[in-house]
Amino acid sequence: MESDSPTSVRTTCPYCGVGCGVLATREESGVIGIAGDPHHPANFGRLCSKGSALGETVDLEGRLLEPRIDGEPASWDTALDLVAGRFAETIREHGPDSVAFYVSGQLLTEDYYVANKLMKGFIGSANIDTNSRLCMSSSVAGHRRAFGSDTVPGTYEDLELADLIVLTGSNLAWCHPVLYQRIAAAKARRPHMRIVLIDPRRTMTADIADMHLKIKPDGDTALFVGLLGYLAAQGAVDRTYLDRYTSGFDAALAIAKNHDLRSISARTGLSPEELREFFALVTRTERCVTIYSQGVNQSTSGTDKVNAIINCHLATGRIGRPGMGPFSVTGQPNAMGGREVGGLANMLASHMHLEDEDHRQLVQDFWASPTIACRPGLKAVDLFDAVREGKVKALWIMATNPVDSMPEADLIVEALKACPFVVVSDINAVTDTTRHGHVLLPAAAWGEKDGTVTNSERRISRQRPFLPLPGEAKPDWWIVTQVARRMGFATSFAYENPSQIFAEHAALSGTGNRGGRDFDISAHAAISGEGYNALQPFQWPQERGKSASEQRFFADGDFYTPDRRARLVAVHPANDEASDPRYPFVLNTGRVRDHWHTMTRTGKSARLSGHFAEPFAEIHPLDAAELGIGDATLVRLANDHGAIIVRALLTDRQARGNVFVPMHWTGQFASKARVDTLVTANLDPVSGQPALKMANVAVRSFQARWYGFAVMREKPASVEDYWALARTQAGFRLELASCEQPRDWSSFAQQLFQTEADVPLLAYHDHRQGQHRIAAFEGETLAGVLYVAREPVTVSRSWASEQLMQQFADAHQRYQLLAGKPGKNMPDKGAIVCACFSVGKNEIAAAARGGCHTVEAIGQTLKAGTNCGSCRAEIRGIIDANIVEAAE
Ligand code: SF4
Repeated sequence: MESDSPTSVRTTCPYCGVGCGVLATREESGVIGIAGDPHHPANFGRLCSKGSALGETVDLEGRLLEPRIDGEPASWDTALDLVAGRFAETIREHGPDSVAFYVSGQLLTEDYYVANKLMKGFIGSANIDTNSRLCMSSSVAGHRRAFGSDTVPGTYEDLELADLIVLTGSNLAWCHPVLYQRIAAAKARRPHMRIVLIDPRRTMTADIADMHLKIKPDGDTALFVGLLGYLAAQGAVDRTYLDRYTSGFDAALAIAKNHDLRSISARTGLSPEELREFFALVTRTERCVTIYSQGVNQSTSGTDKVNAIINCHLATGRIGRPGMGPFSVTGQPNAMGGREVGGLANMLASHMHLEDEDHRQLVQDFWASPTIACRPGLKAVDLFDAVREGKVKALWIMATNPVDSMPEADLIVEALKACPFVVVSDINAVTDTTRHGHVLLPAAAWGEKDGTVTNSERRISRQRPFLPLPGEAKPDWWIVTQVARRMGFATSFAYENPSQIFAEHAALSGTGNRGGRDFDISAHAAISGEGYNALQPFQWPQERGKSASEQRFFADGDFYTPDRRARLVAVHPANDEASDPRYPFVLNTGRVRDHWHTMTRTGKSARLSGHFAEPFAEIHPLDAAELGIGDATLVRLANDHGAIIVRALLTDRQARGNVFVPMHWTGQFASKARVDTLVTANLDPVSGQPALKMANVAVRSFQARWYGFAVMREKPASVEDYWALARTQAGFRLELASCEQPRDWSSFAQQLFQTEADVPLLAYHDHRQGQHRIAAFEGETLAGVLYVAREPVTVSRSWASEQLMQQFADAHQRYQLLAGKPGKNMPDKGAIVCACFSVGKNEIAAAARGGCHTVEAIGQTLKAGTNCGSCRAEIRGIIDANIVEAAE
């Protein structure tokens, strides 16, 4: 076991595509100590709030700990026989394309490899797609169109060496916080570095930006087409690079020439002055990196956006050299590893091409497989359509939650209900997706898993186990290979451990590769179990017989197209979508700082739930005023697909006519906040990636008859029109609202707190004002307290949540609790801003008023912002507001 000390294990964070190294220490008390790995080249010891809180997410509460068939526990043998039998039978009766796997960027590379091998080489279908389709398939398609291969040319070091960083469609501060911190530190060291943020929202990333271009949604292609035209007009293109290494420049430029500054201005919503300033900055700054992420990818024109960006880098030869290049950052921990094993329905293993007969033959020979898929399989949206239509009759979902994350998500429920046989491998017993599985298979979780992942800069790192497998849980690679063996493929899936799978994957990557493929790690083809355990993070390629060196791609051309030239792709700016007057708002979905995907892990941490404890919609204050929506009231967002109810968060960070809703809240955490139910399944025609940031909705105020807030020790079950549940240190907090009033508030509270009828209640009722406050005590401890009012309850949430940890020995304290206000000796820290050190807004405001006028001063006084740094922009905003207040 590779470790930094006898008790700490060197592993990798399971969240975003930065791929930070983590030191995990299992202390005698059972507590898991987490620290950033100072030797890991992705993070050099840094971690963000999510990474720092990993130790709080490894408990066994809610875990799926044994196989289940139709809800009943079953042995592994029975479950595996059933899965293998039903898949084999379905294939026999209806052919290979009647079955499908829907897998995940959360799988390790070894898991992914065997799932892809089974489907494409032994079942003979390419019906394996992944949630990475929703994340970065437009980047894959754009890379392949331009480079002939899915290659990220640069490295993280380039982000520190650049003189100009253009961030488009990326809230790096919240979604890739450690990269954001690396850039912020580089800018502090090299103050001439310039950062441009291109985003319809003024996200927290704007805090380090010298220029923020509030572009119209989907205006990116137009912007970069305009930039290409400007670069050419200024004589800033690199003719030598273009002539030697590329083709397609003239056709791409011809489109750019059709769009003058006015046209680009109309399509981007940016003024000609803003455009000129941006274009001139790029033109004069050679060391330029363009970072892009989901704001580019999750669009009907995502692939074109990627190519419009790459065109500008190719045209200037700014690629593959220090501090230069297009840079796709992936959302998921192992989206890159999935791409390397061919885990998408239109790819083959080791970056080979499914449509290339020679590649298919090579892979089939290497696997000695009876067949090989010869045409692309169904991409995610088409795959679930085929399930719903009865064409796919057996489906295996691994490590993902499509009922929440797919567009038109309610149709996924219909699909799963219609499917004769659904298998779900997961770590959790109850998710919105496991509810529909006929067979549930308990998978190993982070901390138990053993394998590799690849981050956004092509760096392969080990995830190492430091916890035993609980109950009957098994690694995904084991589960897949056991099914494969039972389907008659025992010899080809005879792996005993993940190192054997990794060695095979490495060997395949070098097989028949005479410089024609970018992905090659054949230097590790003969890796032993010991070597695998000791494997240090490394960047690919690492070819057999060549000494290991970290490298960039394409400074001297040598692309992976048949003529070894890159393609500038002639892309047209996207046309404005015709708007539907019934649904005048553009809905943008995305991440918040402290949660991850569908919260199955981060939802366990009280610290991470303190920043945003309920789902919300960011709305511009002027839009809200027109609609009669007050801050912190509830809003209903609706369209033809469905409706959600979330809290209104008024902010001028949001552009008018747009709303932003986070993607994380599921049916396990809120009554009606599954935002992807509202997203139309409009797809990028090249990549098949859905436009998850571009739905049209109506926004209305949701008028409830009463609003409530409660904290309680036990997890409640609620059926109100609106509820949202979050973990606190000693229990749970619950937001409530309803159009129906309970007949008896005391029994309502008792039910909520799950207390016995004889537990005494302390209650205050003002029926005329509609105010009710009820607390239940078990001895001197609080079992729960409920506050009800006709308007949204204003009690301090963090203070109320902390009351579950207090002793209530005297009546005064108990009445204070009902009053809903902290006493003088019980300071109210306010909403948590710094999750790493649990520092609240009120504490920061008080420190600012007391003389701490810089983020550094706040850090010295409260420690806030001194760990991951993701909250520094918010801290700066609180300081500014309070200095102004103090001065007034
Ligand atoms: S930036 Fe945060 S979430 Fe991403 S890998 Fe690093 S610690 Fe994990």
